[in-house]
Amino acid sequence: MARDPRYDVLFEPLQIGPVTTKNRFYQVPHCSGTSDNAPDANTRMREMKAEGGWGVVCTEIAEISNTTEFWPFPSLHLWTDADVGRIARMPEAVHRHGALAGVELGHVGLAAGNRASRTPPLGPSSHLTLESVEPFQSKAMDKSDIRLLRQQHRAAARRAKEAGFDIVYAYAGHGLSIFSQFLQTAYNTRLDEYGGSLENRMRLLREVLQDMHEEIGDSCAVALRFAVNEIDGDLAQGQEFVEAMKDLPDLWDVNLSDWPEDSQTSRFSKEGFQEEQIAFVKKITNRPVVSVGRFTSPDTMLSQVKRGVLDLVGAARPSIADPFIPNKIDEGRVDEIRECIGCNVCASGELSYAPMRCTQNPTVMDEYRRGWHPENVPPKGSNDAVLVVGSGPAGLECANILAKRGYEVTVADAREELGGRVRREAGLPGLSEWIRVADYRLYALQQLGNVSLYPASPLSVADILEFGTQHIVIATGATWRRDGIGRWNLSPVLKGTEANVLTPDDILDGCEVNGPVVIYDEDGGYLGNVIAEKLVKEGLDVTFVTPASEVAPYLALTMEQHKVIARLLDLGVRIERLKRLKGADNSNVSLACVHSDEELTLPLGSLLVLTSRSPNDELYTGLMQRNEDWASVGIKTVSRIGDCEAPSIIAAAVHAGHRWARALDDDANVRTPAHLPMPLA
Ligand code: ADP
Ligand code: SF4
Repeated sequence: MARDPRYDVLFEPLQIGPVTTKNRFYQVPHCSGTSDNAPDANTRMREMKAEGGWGVVCTEIAEISNTTEFWPFPSLHLWTDADVGRIARMPEAVHRHGALAGVELGHVGLAAGNRASRTPPLGPSSHLTLESVEPFQSKAMDKSDIRLLRQQHRAAARRAKEAGFDIVYAYAGHGLSIFSQFLQTAYNTRLDEYGGSLENRMRLLREVLQDMHEEIGDSCAVALRFAVNEIDGDLAQGQEFVEAMKDLPDLWDVNLSDWPEDSQTSRFSKEGFQEEQIAFVKKITNRPVVSVGRFTSPDTMLSQVKRGVLDLVGAARPSIADPFIPNKIDEGRVDEIRECIGCNVCASGELSYAPMRCTQNPTVMDEYRRGWHPENVPPKGSNDAVLVVGSGPAGLECANILAKRGYEVTVADAREELGGRVRREAGLPGLSEWIRVADYRLYALQQLGNVSLYPASPLSVADILEFGTQHIVIATGATWRRDGIGRWNLSPVLKGTEANVLTPDDILDGCEVNGPVVIYDEDGGYLGNVIAEKLVKEGLDVTFVTPASEVAPYLALTMEQHKVIARLLDLGVRIERLKRLKGADNSNVSLACVHSDEELTLPLGSLLVLTSRSPNDELYTGLMQRNEDWASVGIKTVSRIGDCEAPSIIAAAVHAGHRWARALDDDANVRTPAHLPMPLA
């Protein structure tokens, strides 16, 4: 199909300093959870975006020297000339598809641990370091440190140019930059010409940008990534800064600080959420401006460009969820865009020192390791047919990939609406965008002729044997336990039959809830606090109990924890931390401190327990017990995938479905280095 001419503007080239991008799609720098730990995996992930049509593709932070050691967080390095060869693979790969390659030079200053070198982290002044609980303080940089930093930044810029990059960044954002630490009065208490007035506090960054122009400006664009609200949390100073520096960078890449603010989840913000704060930048500068806002809709992108909010549509997460967004818009396939759901599972990769994962795009970071392409799948290897039981994320992804490969696929689900847990959970406060996990796959399945969808079809072992396709995939999910077994209680503390004990499944089924409600949450993710929000909004009195030291520890990795706790407090939810569930009767729940045995009894209308889940594997085990009957009805394999195999996050279920569908009739021995450990260099 041809492109809708309305979107032509998004495909106009634009000059950025000495280079020109072919279109307005710009993958801003974002981390990958791999970096130099797995350069091939990282490079292939970036290359995929260039292939998918992004005009500019950038790296994550590339440390400029050994004084900014981010380890154990994965990072790129341009410390020495020896680093050039490794990082050069990225621009080479990106150039193969006609895109420009950008590199984000970085010095994280107070955010560095320097744990390996054991040299003091650097800061404008002496201050406790950031991003760590260790009692480390920075060295207040003297003039020779400042000179050295400028030399190192200049040398790193030269290496970036040698490596083949077209756009080279100075980085002042996310609370992760020495330059923004110089800009902030809280960190910069210097009395010399680098401290005091804003003019003085921006001196170092101004000098560095001038150095970069001198060193590489003939052939590389000098970009500045600047968080507009980062200077003392004061947008007015951000404006003053842009006024003062307006024509110095070749490109303004502007956003919000810190990282959790820049990458807000869909629970807390909608597409285009940065506009209000960043819109002033384009009014001040004549240089091109790029910014972000979880853009997945071409109409929103177009509107931002047409209204003069930005020149280039920046994306990190949307480009992770769908590296082929530009090509899909270009080819009139807008309905096929796999939209980011704003869950930040991707960020949880970097923050747990692991390769990035994505709920919507199971192929991410497996492009090299397993040889997976986000759009292309190998054709079927036989004429076998497959029955997938369960239409949650695992079942739908499995069916979708199988159908794309050409297999005859049947999907059956007991419920009237297809979509499994995402269909149900997306009805909870703030999670509406999560329905995209089901909708994207159902839409894709409905376009294919080789798929039969059967909602409202609860299947038994006998039904499946009678159905008799060659392959049976059980994707029947999991059920929340009622007995309290989880991380803290390894044996039951509830009978499981108490009338006032509820699980999230009951809530999703629309059961009646009596107050006061006590939510006991060992799961530590979103569900407990989202349900708390729902129940408070329904007028119930809610106490939230966790054995952890903070509410929702998992959400620290998706960068929502702070906002979630603030929201619960705002809603008037009472929070009890460090308390373990001991038991409950009709009118009370008893809890015990996890450190002492001090007890707390709370009155109870309903107790909602989120401890752990049991796989719904009865069909699977039932079929395994009947394996002698398989041959007579033509069944070759029976498998289980997703939560019914091992309860986990939605991203894990999608990956499991994808993995199974790719592996059918595939000889794993002839491909994939997936059996090799990281790093893959
Ligand atoms: P996952 O996250 O692993 O994809 P979900 O819990 O989201 O799992 O989805 C499981 C789906 O399986 C649910 O929609 C449920 O209705 C369906 N299901 C469970 N048991 C049966 C069964 N016996 N027959 C048909 N569908 C089933
Ligand atoms: Fe979007 Fe979630 Fe994928 Fe991140 S993990 S890109 S937030 S869908």
